[in-house]
Amino acid sequence: MRSDSETGFSADENDIGDSIEETAEGILTTLLRRIERRFFPGVRPVNGIEVVRNSHLPCRYVPAEKKIQIHAELAQFAKLSALIIVHELVHHKLQEADPNYAYNPYGPKFRDEIMELAKQDDYLRLL
Ligand SMILES: [Zn+2]
Repeated sequence: MRSDSETGFSADENDIGDSIEETAEGILTTLLRRIERRFFPGVRPVNGIEVVRNSHLPCRYVPAEKKIQIHAELAQFAKLSALIIVHELVHHKLQEADPNYAYNPYGPKFRDEIMELAKQDDYLRLL
């Protein structure tokens, strides 16, 4: 990122906005990796998490890129972000196991994964 050489601040407002979202992405990436290790140890990690503003969804899994997009407004809330990251990682896990999974993303396989998570105290603490 460019910065003003005298102040060290970004050269324009857009850069400042970008830097806030980059910070959020850094924090959420740390959170994401912890959640992956804790709840999905046997699943290949996603490629990353991206903070976006131009979305009508709070969060979504993008199968083609194997990444999670999270809205900047939601990204402010760490515990809520953690809960929804687990949700998106269930989609990722099931998509990895079955490329046709997206035809029925909230079917029995999804429900079974949530029921397994609900047996874990660490998951219940997110609720
Ligand atoms: Zn979902």
